Amino acid sequence: MNNENKTIHEFDLNIIYDYFSDTERQGPGNADLTLKALSFINGLSQQSKIADIGCGTGGQTMVLAQNTPSKIIGIELWPDFISQLNENAQKNNFQHRVTGVVGNMDNLPFDDEELDLIWCEGAIYNIGFECGLKEWRKFLKRGGYIAMTENTWFTSERPDEIGGFWQNAYPEIDTISNKVAQMENAGYLPIATFVVPELTWTDYYTAQALRQESFLKKHAGNKTAEEFVGYQRYEAQLYDKYKEYYGYVFYIGKKM
Ligand code: SAM
Repeated sequence: MNNENKTIHEFDLNIIYDYFSDTERQGPGNADLTLKALSFINGLSQQSKIADIGCGTGGQTMVLAQNTPSKIIGIELWPDFISQLNENAQKNNFQHRVTGVVGNMDNLPFDDEELDLIWCEGAIYNIGFECGLKEWRKFLKRGGYIAMTENTWFTSERPDEIGGFWQNAYPEIDTISNKVAQMENAGYLPIATFVVPELTWTDYYTAQALRQESFLKKHAGNKTAEEFVGYQRYEAQLYDKYKEYYGYVFYIGKKM
């Protein structure tokens, strides 16, 4: 099958998770950006509760733990990622207030108005930006915050090749102003937006390129592994060619 017509959702999950296991981050992001987003959020105390949704192996969860006094629950579909997060929490002595739980963002294990902050780096696309904003709002206290990164168009027009690629991979990709309007319509006050710098993406793709050779060796002859790496390389090439048109944006909102 032609990589250009295939989305990440169609590949064998075990292979994908093996590709990303033992990495600190499974998407473009880093501690400085997590801290920058956190700087817009006030009032977190020892009594506060944070949910880190689609937390992966917990790179950003540890940054939140180091820089807030609050209780943090990481929610993630893939059990191995949750094991890595819980091991890291233990190593860093956060086990009394940081817990990773296997769960689905479609069906979160929280009560209404239980949370002070919902964090979601590079993962809300799995439920859809608008749907996540609307579905998760009930779990936040009034005045609680949401912070997430989301793939976003930087311009109102773009070349067909990249427009078509993202239309196929994530049709909800949209401009910053439309995403902010979606936040307002869902009942949040937009507090801040900032563009995730290009270097964050190039770092992410460089780290992946280094892993690809050993991954292909480990899964020699496996078609899914080869196709998956082919897809990752194609996505990285497209980013290199069209990076002025799209990238992640951090969105921070407050429940009204
Ligand atoms: N937040 C991490 C980071 O930035 O490094 C991981 C981002 S990774 C691009 C997206 C994560 O969302 C993956 O770990 C994936 O397993 C998780 N995920 C996908 N669908 C999910 C769902 N329905 N519920 C919970 N987690 C999900």
